Amino acid sequence: MTDTTELAMIPAAKPIIGEEERAAVDRVMRSGMVAQGPEVAAFEREFAEVLVGGRTCVAVNSGTSGLHLGLLAAGIGAGDEVIVPSFTFAATANSVALTGATPVFADISEDTFNLDPESVRAAVTDRTAAVMPVHLYGHPADLDALGAVAAEAGIALFEDAAQAHGATYGGAPVGSFGVFGMFSLYPTKNMTSGEGGMVSCADEEIARGVRLLRNQGMEKQYANEVVGLNNRMTDIHAAIGRAQLGKVGAWTAQRQANAAWLDAALGDVVVVPPVRQGCTHVYHQYTVRVAGASGAERDRVVTALREEHKVGCGVYYPTPNHELVSLARFAPERELPVTARAAAEVISLPVHPSLSQGDLERVAAAVHAVLGAGA
Ligand SMILES: *Cc1c(COP(=O)(O)O)cnc(C)c1O
Repeated sequence: MTDTTELAMIPAAKPIIGEEERAAVDRVMRSGMVAQGPEVAAFEREFAEVLVGGRTCVAVNSGTSGLHLGLLAAGIGAGDEVIVPSFTFAATANSVALTGATPVFADISEDTFNLDPESVRAAVTDRTAAVMPVHLYGHPADLDALGAVAAEAGIALFEDAAQAHGATYGGAPVGSFGVFGMFSLYPTKNMTSGEGGMVSCADEEIARGVRLLRNQGMEKQYANEVVGLNNRMTDIHAAIGRAQLGKVGAWTAQRQANAAWLDAALGDVVVVPPVRQGCTHVYHQYTVRVAGASGAERDRVVTALREEHKVGCGVYYPTPNHELVSLARFAPERELPVTARAAAEVISLPVHPSLSQGDLERVAAAVHAVLGAGA
């Protein structure tokens, strides 16, 4: 074992908060108006222009709220089924369950970890109202095939784009395909507002619905039209998000360059993440497979990378949603073999834009030391 006592941990993720973000917060604080106001309105317009081709965007206080309100605005509720992946963060299915609808779990494709259109087709029932793919790790879901399944079944398509700011499918940005698309602005995502979410809306009716629901059902003060929540974004958070919008393009390019370097360095020891033709991947995570590993074997690799080599890495996600205590009741005896294998084999390695060339070399050397020939 190498002596790593002097090595600093390479973090798995690192939000970049600079002078511009601090000045933006200060500007709002000095204005004395900190709740939802002009900064939120400007952030919505700018986000729309930069990331979703000008679609109307509505800001909320978290990505989860964005999914929840998008679903409610689209009319999802008790009695409906919404098909989702199980291999994702629990917020995807949680938001469906919180509307009173039933999340129905479908399996994923081996290469991109995203919803398998054939598995979705097989999960459609006469109660299915929608399918909500996740663009997992920043790689677009198979939107043509999923759109075809949705059209054939007469159901809606929604997008969980929490991890995929700026990813494109057939040249168009994710978040511009579904009735709504949601982007998370949590600090570890590709850009942040501290906490926050953005809902990109296919039409003004959905946008108005989300706006009403985030503000107690009011457009006009004290003239409540529907039962709503307080899921508003603050101007403080919007100001942080606006500063980040100017930089997310360069950060994405750096993530892609880091991923290309890792692809070349690691392809001989692990399965590196493929990018499908016609797609761009924005590498929220750079996720490799230890082919054939059990969950326990993979966990030992993660421990060795962290403890012996000081390489921060993560497992997203070790337990498929349909096996979580909270969500298992929605999936009686469901078999999702591709999901099960992914949950056992995946490791996400650092790919964030703050990595130095030396960091990348250390990541590659560590993976070779733990998994290479003779290891
Ligand atoms: C982060 C995330 C969410 C939830 O976003 P928050 O801003 O944390 O509420 C939803 N879905 C996926 C796939 C995510 O990664």
